[in-house]
Amino acid sequence: MLIMARKVLIDMIKLRSAMIEDSTLSVPEAYYYPALNVNGLKTIRELATFRFACRKCEDAPCINVCPADALEKDENGVVVRYTNLCVSCKSCVTICPFGTMMTDFFKHHRNKDLYYDLRDEKEMKEFIKACPAGTVTITDDDESPDKNIYSLNEKVLIKDYLYTTEKQ
Ligand code: SF4
Ligand code: SF4
Repeated sequence: MLIMARKVLIDMIKLRSAMIEDSTLSVPEAYYYPALNVNGLKTIRELATFRFACRKCEDAPCINVCPADALEKDENGVVVRYTNLCVSCKSCVTICPFGTMMTDFFKHHRNKDLYYDLRDEKEMKEFIKACPAGTVTITDDDESPDKNIYSLNEKVLIKDYLYTTEKQ
């Protein structure tokens, strides 16, 4: 059954801590595309990382090192990976001076059956159950920057430290 009501809140801060505490942890992946997606499958973790945690380096080392020209910035300066070009070499992960990307990022990027589809209520519940305790919850709340909670899309909220060069 497809649902559009409440939102999923993914706490990237807690998720990263859980991964640091247990390096063998296999983090479940999910995606959410409200309509037909023609630009390649991207997990929520990848989209959230490039959008919120990435420092958006001016002369981005990750883009420069990519041997497949699979990375570029969009009109908002957010790094985008073209999954059809990426060869999973992980050079971008290694060179990023801020450790923004995680080594397991590109593991399953061509097999959507390994991801949970958050448009589906059953899959959404299974995803929450599969994630480390307390990292993913359902909420009726909206974006609230004072709590480091930002909207990724109409269905997903992300809790993370937003990197910004603007003076507060
Ligand atoms: S993992 Fe993919 S995006 Fe990263 S450098 Fe290699 S080909 Fe480029
Ligand atoms: S090198 Fe790292 S921080 Fe810089 S743009 Fe690339 S992913 Fe973002």
